[in-house]
Amino acid sequence: MFLRNQLHIDRIRCLCDSICDGHPEEMTTRSSRLEPIPVPSRRQVLRATIAGTAAGVLTSAGIELSVPRQAQAQSTLSPDAALQMVMEGNQRFVERRLTFYKEDLAILQQNTAEKQEPFASVLSCADSRVPVELIFDQSIGHVFVNRVAGNIATSEIIASIEYGVAVLGTRVLIVLGHAACGAVKASIAAKDVPGQISSLYRYIRPAVDEAQGDVEKTIRANAKIQAKLLKDSSPVIASAVKDGKLKVVAAYYDLTDGKVTLLD
Ligand SMILES: [Zn+2]
Repeated sequence: MFLRNQLHIDRIRCLCDSICDGHPEEMTTRSSRLEPIPVPSRRQVLRATIAGTAAGVLTSAGIELSVPRQAQAQSTLSPDAALQMVMEGNQRFVERRLTFYKEDLAILQQNTAEKQEPFASVLSCADSRVPVELIFDQSIGHVFVNRVAGNIATSEIIASIEYGVAVLGTRVLIVLGHAACGAVKASIAAKDVPGQISSLYRYIRPAVDEAQGDVEKTIRANAKIQAKLLKDSSPVIASAVKDGKLKVVAAYYDLTDGKVTLLD
């Protein structure tokens, strides 16, 4: 497992546009195949066009695209380092200094086509105002994102997160609540709603009770309760935490300033 991860890490390092300080022969060979070619293919032109469009959108939104950071060696990170990496990414997002986009997305796509080794898992709400990779300034292959309205730990979500931890080797798990969460508001109101929407309520009810119906307090309490639930109900997650391989934290995303704050 570690050997496999290390090979992948070295390959990422070599193929990124930052540093390359020694790597297996396999990677050297692959790297040499990826030398820039004089005439771009149609696919490359398409990628560049898409890239340019995205850059334009971000720039017009007042978000600066600054110097790229180096690709990271995911599986060798400590849980604390993994947490620090996503929080630093959020700081770049808050300061409008995004770097994810400057990573070579075409190369990242090639590297992640066959397998993935993200360093962080996130359980967030499905809310469209919480674009997880963007607010943590992370690109393809870095974050294993699990989304459901109310960022709740259902059995399916737990299974998905367990996969991230046990199979993919994520080193930090962030349960991310956010301001003005509609699922939390609906759970507090507990009105009749169409279809199966109300099935979300029972997961959020403990936070509603704890915070006595205050929306913001309930959102924060819910993130903490779901994080604790994940740690307590999943032997896979509990074991990884006990072995020092994983850190589980609850956090709150402020829609107005883009800042993520750790709870507890
Ligand atoms: Zn929400």
